Amino acid sequence: MKTSVLYKKIEHRRAPLLAPPPKISFFSRSRECKSMLPYSSAAEAEAALGRAMTFAEAAWLRYSATVPDHLLYCHNVAILLVVYTLAPLPLALLEQLTPQAVTSPIKLQPRVRLSEAAVFRCYLDTAWVLLLTVGMLGIVSFPVVKMVGIRTGLPLPTLGEAAAQLAVYLLVEDYLGYWIHRLLHTKWGYEKIHHVHHEFSAPFSYAAPYAHWAEVLILGVPSFTGPAIVPCHITILWLWFVLRHIEAIDIHSGFEFPFNPTRFIPFYGGAEFHDYHHRVGEKSQSNFSSVFTFCDFLYGTDKGYRYHKASLAKIWQTQRCGFPNGKANLICWNKPRAMVATGVSAPRWSPWEVRAC
Ligand SMILES: [Zn+2]
Ligand SMILES: [Zn+2]
Repeated sequence: MKTSVLYKKIEHRRAPLLAPPPKISFFSRSRECKSMLPYSSAAEAEAALGRAMTFAEAAWLRYSATVPDHLLYCHNVAILLVVYTLAPLPLALLEQLTPQAVTSPIKLQPRVRLSEAAVFRCYLDTAWVLLLTVGMLGIVSFPVVKMVGIRTGLPLPTLGEAAAQLAVYLLVEDYLGYWIHRLLHTKWGYEKIHHVHHEFSAPFSYAAPYAHWAEVLILGVPSFTGPAIVPCHITILWLWFVLRHIEAIDIHSGFEFPFNPTRFIPFYGGAEFHDYHHRVGEKSQSNFSSVFTFCDFLYGTDKGYRYHKASLAKIWQTQRCGFPNGKANLICWNKPRAMVATGVSAPRWSPWEVRAC
């Protein structure tokens, strides 16, 4: 009896030496991790695709094969926090470190300049809210993500496919976001939730997602409805959230750059459009759209803004780039789309616009 027990112990000790455990490739580990990739090797993946993998697909296979799907989906939080930390930084540095006289011509509200402490407090508050809300949403919504068909496998989408999906998401987000934002401007919605986002009447880059936690959750609905209607690859979902976030930073930047590439996007609202909404504040019944201008035009909620722009255009037309009574202290590059929004036939090539402030 004793001998057999001893034999078993020895066998147990020797077992690893006699029969070393088989090496598990990252492909087979992926199956244990419940990744969706149904391939045991790169060759098998290429056989399934019927062609050689692209560089991006090979890289994606190597990366995603070791990560289970629910962890891939949780990348959203990390990506969002990194983008929120880094993307607004150049604009914040421009505002904080550059003399006011230099930035005034391109600032929408040049008289407002927040302290570094206020900007940092905004960043910390927002990062905390994003971490909690988006993190929680990432865990809770994973079954929904699987159900609607967000995929993680191969092939990766083509550029055309990705562009078409992102265009749909933008349109859906803009339309639903318009109505949700409008509801948030009812008495109850504003007092209970939306007033937090309007704390800054002169928005700046880090204030883009600054909002009540409930608003962050609510606005997740229009952001996710597009991917739910037209399911995409998870990399496109990440790209969509990044683009959406950068767009929010752009419209809250407080700057109107003459070289901003978004000027070439038809009906794009831009910083000036949204800045007006923040400037008016609680009573604002204008410019609810977050991306384009056509919802506000369609439902007549851009009248205040158009009147405002028409007034500015009149000043421009009468003063011809001058300084009315020597009191106008701000000039900025004219924006063709802003002039189009006014409906005033100001020359599109006019370089200057006088802005009362
Ligand atoms: Zn608002
Ligand atoms: Zn805003």
